[in-house]
Amino acid sequence: MAFRISLAGADVSFACDDSQTILDAALNAGIELPYACRKGICGNCAGQVSSASVKGRGGVAVSNEFCNPDQVLYCRSVPTADLEIAPISWRRTETLGRKSLTVKVHKNQLAAPDVSVLQLRLPAGQRVKFKAGQHLRIAVTENLSRYYSMANPPQESDSITLHVRHVPGGFFTSRVGQLVPGDTLKIELPFGDFSPHHAEDRHLVFVAGGTGFAPIKSIIDDLMKRQVQTRMTLIWGARSADGLYMLSAVETWKRNWPDFHFIAVVSGEETHRVPGSFAGRVDEALQMHFASLASHAVYCCGSPAMVTSVLRQAEALSLGASNFHSDVFVEAADAPGYSGLQVDESCEPEKIWSA
Ligand SMILES: Cc1cc2nc3c(=O)[nH]c(=O)nc-3n(C[C@H](O)[C@H](O)[C@H](O)COP(=O)(O)OP(=O)(O)OC[C@H]3O[C@@H](n4cnc5c(N)ncnc54)[C@H](O)[C@@H]3O)c2cc1C
Repeated sequence: MAFRISLAGADVSFACDDSQTILDAALNAGIELPYACRKGICGNCAGQVSSASVKGRGGVAVSNEFCNPDQVLYCRSVPTADLEIAPISWRRTETLGRKSLTVKVHKNQLAAPDVSVLQLRLPAGQRVKFKAGQHLRIAVTENLSRYYSMANPPQESDSITLHVRHVPGGFFTSRVGQLVPGDTLKIELPFGDFSPHHAEDRHLVFVAGGTGFAPIKSIIDDLMKRQVQTRMTLIWGARSADGLYMLSAVETWKRNWPDFHFIAVVSGEETHRVPGSFAGRVDEALQMHFASLASHAVYCCGSPAMVTSVLRQAEALSLGASNFHSDVFVEAADAPGYSGLQVDESCEPEKIWSA
């Protein structure tokens, strides 16, 4: 049975059958709502529905800790009647200017024993348009893709830099160290919406775990290049000192931006290797350094567990719900409109890239 979903305040509606999530139906209809993981973890797709006319597909919960009381996760919710939704934002996909490109590996360097910094070159004369904090999709094989955040600011539009943590046994990342200059990768971009809005209004607090630093580096470089007058604090945490793999960039920001503050956080034994660092977790560092977050905005990126603990701490410090923004590094499911790619773990690892 099909229901009609209308967008509040717009003369736009789309069909959604009773086994389809609101997010899938919207994407199929060419309407992009905010989302990332599509697994009910990250909370990026949380939005309002006009009435209690949704249920969780397969009996799953329709909300999580990232939802306000009046919100549901569109990636979990299927309609039980015609309804109106009020997402945080929406766009028609044809206006996104998304591009598919074959790019060449220009450099592949180890920034830490388990972090590769990949520099990708676009074909001659090509430029990419993206917002700081967005991510791309790499077609690992014909049937398998992975998502990585751009670490460079949008002003550097003829190349792309990625920070890739090697996940033990990871299908893509256990092979990423073998990429050499000249190898090619198929990418599609941009995706996501993890960019500061109205940056000058609030003290911006960035919280990164490991390679969650990548989109935050893009955002901070962009804000500084655009001379956006705002106060910024970066809290960057890792298990070991090596995990804070790009402290030189942080030193440059400290030198160039008077109102930029940095808190290094090491949760393992090696705190002494980063002078002045906080020993513990990033949510504990947040609590230690801020008495209140009432006039702040928090941008947090890392694993689901880390983002959840930072959200809880930020709420306890009076951060308004609409001022918490996150990008969660989960294994993302492919979505409608992603060239129909389906995850197929039986595919050949050798086909990951071509020279
Ligand atoms: C929007 C988005 C942006 C992302 N940006 C980045 C980025 O900039 N840098 C980056 O390093 N990663 C990023 N990721 C994670 C990345 O997409 C992959 O999930 C990750 O690199 C693992 O891929 P893999 O093929 O090597 O591992 P898989 O073969 O998918 O997984 C192997 C095993 O590791 C586990 N696993 C998968 N991912 C992780 C993880 N992140 N942490 C711990 N265990 C994991 C799996 O459950 C599985 O057991 C992002 C994810 C999303 C959704």
